[in-house]
Amino acid sequence: MMKFDVLTLFPELFDAVLGESIIGRARQNNIIQINTVNIRDFSLNKHRKVDDYPYGGGGGMVMMAQPICDAYLSIAEKLSYKPRVVYLSPQGRVLNQEIVKELSTEEHLILLCGHYEGIDERVIEEIVDDEISIGDYVLTGGELPAMVLIDSVSRLIPGVLSSEESYSQESHYEGLLEYPQYTRPYEFSERKVPGVLMSGHHENINRWRRQQSLKRTYLKRPDMFERLSLNEADRKLLEEALKENEE
Ligand code: SAM
Repeated sequence: MMKFDVLTLFPELFDAVLGESIIGRARQNNIIQINTVNIRDFSLNKHRKVDDYPYGGGGGMVMMAQPICDAYLSIAEKLSYKPRVVYLSPQGRVLNQEIVKELSTEEHLILLCGHYEGIDERVIEEIVDDEISIGDYVLTGGELPAMVLIDSVSRLIPGVLSSEESYSQESHYEGLLEYPQYTRPYEFSERKVPGVLMSGHHENINRWRRQQSLKRTYLKRPDMFERLSLNEADRKLLEEALKENEE
């Protein structure tokens, strides 16, 4: 079982997204556990204040260190080990499938969501092990990034996806994008499903899918393609597909 504890000022945002569908089912089956901790509950201020003006001036408010560290301690002091604390931050390593895989090997993650102008730097020094960004843009809070991280990591926990939903051929799994997918009807808006998929010939289907994956990665994500080291068979498949494209 993998456990996520989320430190946030907005715990109610999480259940709507992580209470349904595949993740909701995994929680019900106790394959993953997602627990939210409201940082505001740890404010020592009578107005439950959790932020203050930045030293040195400038706009916005900064989340204070004490409520965050006490929220963290409320979890950590019950444990016999140091859980890995991830601060969702636009300054972190940018999340990709490699990092998702790495995080999925942990048994327990504590996710810290900032808000406003961010958090007091001393929190990062005191409790944060890792900073993760979900992309080079700035959001209003770390809640959406935390949900993105939980969703992507949970999919890799054994038992979360059923065998039909398996991730092993998906985009980014082997550094490739996935082949095109089709479902019924056979013809839609005068467009037919590629004949090979109707043939029942599994070897040909797999060959076609591999070829499409290679072609898509080459055309849509040249940066990913550059990182691949193709064997001779894959190189031939790609050449063939690109020739067909030209014709
Ligand atoms: N002042 C901070 C800076 O320039 O680095 C940005 C603060 S941002 C407005 C507020 C919070 O949203 C951050 O503390 C962080 O938790 C979250 N956040 C914003 N963009 C993010 C991103 N791309 N990835 C992960 N978290 C992000």
